[in-house]
Amino acid sequence: MIVIENCAIATVAGAEYASGHIVIDGARITRIGPGPAPELDGAEHWPARSAGSLERVDGTGCLATPGLVNSHHHLYQWATQGIVPQATLFEWLTALYPVWAGLDAEIVRDAAGAALGWLALSGCTTTTDHHYVFPKNSSDLLAAEIDAAREVGLRFHPCRGSMDRGESHGGLPPDEIVEATEAALLATEDAIGRHHDPSPESMLRIAVAPCSPFTVTETLMTESAALARRAGVRLHTHLAETVEEEQHCREQFGCTPVEYMERLGWLGADVWFAHCVHLRDADIQRFAETGTGVAHCPSSNARLGAGIARVADLVGAGAPVGLGVDGAASAELTTLDGEMRQALFFQRAASGPRALTARQALELGTLGGARCLGRADEIGTLETGKLADIALWRVDGFHAAVADPVTALVFGRTPPLARLYVNGRAIVSGGELRTADQEALARAGAAAHRKLVPAAEAPHSPP
Ligand code: ZN
Repeated sequence: MIVIENCAIATVAGAEYASGHIVIDGARITRIGPGPAPELDGAEHWPARSAGSLERVDGTGCLATPGLVNSHHHLYQWATQGIVPQATLFEWLTALYPVWAGLDAEIVRDAAGAALGWLALSGCTTTTDHHYVFPKNSSDLLAAEIDAAREVGLRFHPCRGSMDRGESHGGLPPDEIVEATEAALLATEDAIGRHHDPSPESMLRIAVAPCSPFTVTETLMTESAALARRAGVRLHTHLAETVEEEQHCREQFGCTPVEYMERLGWLGADVWFAHCVHLRDADIQRFAETGTGVAHCPSSNARLGAGIARVADLVGAGAPVGLGVDGAASAELTTLDGEMRQALFFQRAASGPRALTARQALELGTLGGARCLGRADEIGTLETGKLADIALWRVDGFHAAVADPVTALVFGRTPPLARLYVNGRAIVSGGELRTADQEALARAGAAAHRKLVPAAEAPHSPP
């Protein structure tokens, strides 16, 4: 059992405490409230199975929030950061596809290890990943990133991605990195069978995730939805990211990206889309009516000059909205705390200073992501009975000049992490990763970059 006391608490479930306590027993929160924890002598306060060891954590000077939830990422892109720095999405993809054709299991494992360690150090307790590049004859790349997530200790929702529409069929990627439709579906079904754990407290759930309208055939989109619904797993893809994508959809399918998805049966409470920068009022209404979620990725949208998503409007309409760091090749920041700040400032830059509050930004980074991943009953808020995924931020020191700790967290420079718990296990303590050697993860991530992108062959940005 772990008792955290004397910290400010933002539960994201309505209640906040200037000084409160949280009790963790096993993987779950068993008590949370204001003031110090009740004395342990009062045995009636404590669950029967609490007889084991007790750790008391003094949270003085800290803010406890739900662990942050990342709803969109491409872990392998840790190995292709910092290149193609001035390009639109299509230019960027076209330059990087040939580089990604060199992916193998070792590169994916090492890139994912670094990316996941980096995420944990930004207060992230649950992350998804969207892996859609499976070069011919590459070994099991999904298993490689799952290994990395187990080592680092994050709750993991990898999306088995796919592409089957290469250049010769009007798609954007070169033919050598797309899969045959049937092979992609079989591999996705196999990934669900081997890895998906639907049980409560699950640390690993698979989603089905064909890559985007411009890389995937209508057949693969439709069959993927049927597969996901048969298997009881969630559906994810990129959507409405750029004006070029909209043009592509109009030319190829005679409609907008959202209309195309609706036609294919892809709107629903089991679906969340990455980006959704270019939405009409009617699209926002349909997302809200159907419970379709959006992973907002402000850094990536800015780096690629894609635009600013209508997050405040989506939130106002009641659609589930989470935050995604997106892959490090289009958003080198890749920290969840950073995306909370970017989301807040972008909405205000676009729509004025009341467009989004610090608490709404925190909700996007926690409960919003949990809703996208279908885990809102277990994570995303701090409440009795929920899983003990908790970030404990040090808002003392320089940060103490801001009286409100949530404002300090969201508006200012990111505070250090005192602790990060996943399922009641401390994976970060004193600002350092405890599950793995973070220096070794960083070195392996950099080595993966050098292996995949020899300096002389690094693609340059288009003129
Ligand atoms: Zn993406």
